[in-house]
Amino acid sequence: MSASRADRSPTRQRVLSGMQPSGLLHLGNLLGALENWKALQDQYECFFFVADWHALSTNYADTSRVREYTREMLMDWLAAGIDPRRATVFVQSRVPEHAILHLLLSMVIPVPWLERVPTYKEKQEELSERDLTTYGFLGYPVLQAADILIYKADYVPVGKDQLPHLELTREIARRFNSLYRPVFPEPKEHLTQYPKVLGTDGRKMSKSYGNTINLADPEPVVRQKLKTMVTDPARVRRTDPGNPDICPVYDFHKIFSPTQVIQRINRECRTAEIGCIDCKKLSADAMVERLQPIWSARARLNANPAQVEQIIEDGSHRASEVARRTLEEVKQAMKI
Ligand code: SF4
Repeated sequence: MSASRADRSPTRQRVLSGMQPSGLLHLGNLLGALENWKALQDQYECFFFVADWHALSTNYADTSRVREYTREMLMDWLAAGIDPRRATVFVQSRVPEHAILHLLLSMVIPVPWLERVPTYKEKQEELSERDLTTYGFLGYPVLQAADILIYKADYVPVGKDQLPHLELTREIARRFNSLYRPVFPEPKEHLTQYPKVLGTDGRKMSKSYGNTINLADPEPVVRQKLKTMVTDPARVRRTDPGNPDICPVYDFHKIFSPTQVIQRINRECRTAEIGCIDCKKLSADAMVERLQPIWSARARLNANPAQVEQIIEDGSHRASEVARRTLEEVKQAMKI
């Protein structure tokens, strides 16, 4: 007997993905996750959610901005092209079935399974100033499994580093299915090649490094951030030839600029025909052109908070309907 596949699109397989609301989204998020989601929403039945409960697992002591970040993140998604008519876009805490399934799964998951998750110890060391000996933090992967399994997702977009988490979700599904009866299909990875996006200091773009260019940054801020961006460190004087291959500004050119500009920088940087100031200006021009439609869409959403609330409400309602049906099956399987 295999897990039930009723209650789903007959033609499209289902994808589930979420993000924690931990601040403004930046170019790394746009070029990594959001561009990928935009492509997925045309091919799959997609569920995209703001994982606000997950944010509590490490930020439980300061919850003052979770709501604000949830809303901001959702506006970033919509402005970037996530379409609530094609994908179900919702907020985790508006679908309480996630929490109920988390509770039920936590009854059957051995604690050592959770303690051996690599990120459990790593994150505790990384955030050593916080007390992460909590039950919620240990149980984070169970909540993640509940998020995926309650929609019987076929695929979860992941990078290679997240594969162990998905494997744990499959183990949890197998354990449940063998203890009771097959309810959950085992989700597969949808491996995603994320482009490496560097921040203004040349390290990986990350909120924790304070080197981001945010989707919500206005044009003057974007231009200023590019002006102060690090370049090839060996190019000290205007007359020194540079090496674009080790310059993060050139990486932005490769992402945002037209081919002829990329070729020109590649040539003129090496011969010192172009200076870094002019090169950065060209890069800022291309980036601004790409971000302009996102800024316009975001401004429209900002001016219409009722529309944003309605999108959250509709998406969460749609997600709830699916989640409720799965939970019914779970309860029947567990005879409760
Ligand atoms: S000219 Fe452009 S690519 Fe070359 S070092 Fe300067 S900023 Fe980097």
